[in-house]
Amino acid sequence: MDKIWIKSGLVYTGGSHPGVIEGGVLCNGDEIEAVGSDEDLGARAQGTRIIDAGGRLIAPGFINAHMHLYSTLARGMALDGPPPENFLQILQRLWWKLDKALRLEDLVPSARLPLADALLSGVTTIIDHHASPNAVSGSLDVLADTACEMGIRFSTCYEVSDRDGLDIMKAGIEENLRFAKRAAEDPLLAATFGLHASFTLSDETIDQCARSVADAGLAVHVHVAEADSDAVDARKGGYEGALARLHSLGVLPEGSLAVHCVHTTENEWEIMKHGGVFCVHNPQSNMNNAVGAAAVDKMVASGVQVGVGTDGMQADVRQDIRAAFLLGHHRTADPRTMWAETDSLVKTNCKIASRLFKKKLGVLEPGCAADVVVYDYFPPTRLHSENFYGHLLFGLYQARANSVVVAGVELVEDGEIKGYDPQQEAALAKQRAAALWKRV
Ligand SMILES: [Zn+2]
Repeated sequence: MDKIWIKSGLVYTGGSHPGVIEGGVLCNGDEIEAVGSDEDLGARAQGTRIIDAGGRLIAPGFINAHMHLYSTLARGMALDGPPPENFLQILQRLWWKLDKALRLEDLVPSARLPLADALLSGVTTIIDHHASPNAVSGSLDVLADTACEMGIRFSTCYEVSDRDGLDIMKAGIEENLRFAKRAAEDPLLAATFGLHASFTLSDETIDQCARSVADAGLAVHVHVAEADSDAVDARKGGYEGALARLHSLGVLPEGSLAVHCVHTTENEWEIMKHGGVFCVHNPQSNMNNAVGAAAVDKMVASGVQVGVGTDGMQADVRQDIRAAFLLGHHRTADPRTMWAETDSLVKTNCKIASRLFKKKLGVLEPGCAADVVVYDYFPPTRLHSENFYGHLLFGLYQARANSVVVAGVELVEDGEIKGYDPQQEAALAKQRAAALWKRV
């Protein structure tokens, strides 16, 4: 594998003991060989490809812990009938209509556009959750092929649900298991086992999924208590809530992603803490769907590991990290909250992704994955190891990536993705979207 030396920048290493160093990062294939001053690295970087950061900020690539690439072509689509009054109606009148109309060929532009946005914003790992009930088989391969072509680190799963009948439910299980075998062979791919949500899954289906998950040794990726209606539905069955139901039915093994958890109880947080189940917070989506605000500060204080995703709002997870901070302030009416929690959200994402990809991600240290971003960001005040989040939340969140290296390969050069023409890509997406909207 080739070496790349990213030099002459200001390096923020991330990780549990973050450092800020003037200098750069030496990558050797998909591994960071060294982090240090230009002088130190120059001696061991003879003959390597050089990226000159020119004083810019060098940071680890960000990880988006919950995304729906399939949502791209819904942008600007008009809905028939009266506007949805609640979350279930949003699903019924928008997302469940759109996903049923998706064909495999729609998934390519639907994935390429947000994956490009991810790279250009310094997001180097995407953990996706997919649904296309009338094009289940092979759908995860189309997404993975697109991600591999673009070079980004990518995890996906198919959301199993009873809402489209037995055959499609079974096809969803098969798609998860089939893709998991492929992902196991590719270091840039990872699989989880997707479930939609407690309220669209019968006990029998969950039982079947639990057995498949155990056999395949996969973590589950599922929406949990996004709206109150999911918790109410579970309570009708005698459970404390949606998370308690999924746990009782044995479908939340260690490492699983319980997405949202807006309407969960303290007892359910205990289950998550003791069972090693991650929560993934998606603040912008929760605000957009008017479903409430998750008690992130309380969950973190009680020992739940809470990460952060975007739920299809956009690919750039920095926007949801910032939204989590602002929503947390707003919800608690306490401006002291969310500083430590923001650090915790970012670190939990690193943990989630490192577990899935079986490699340490999100940290610039020797031996970690070579996912490195040079941001068009020149700190206007001193940046040190203690105030990175001040820079991220009030400046860096809107900086574009100038160079992006994923797994030791340079994907973004001078702010552009090699071989990617945004105008042409948008034109192709527009054609597919026009045909898709007619079928919705
Ligand atoms: Zn989601």
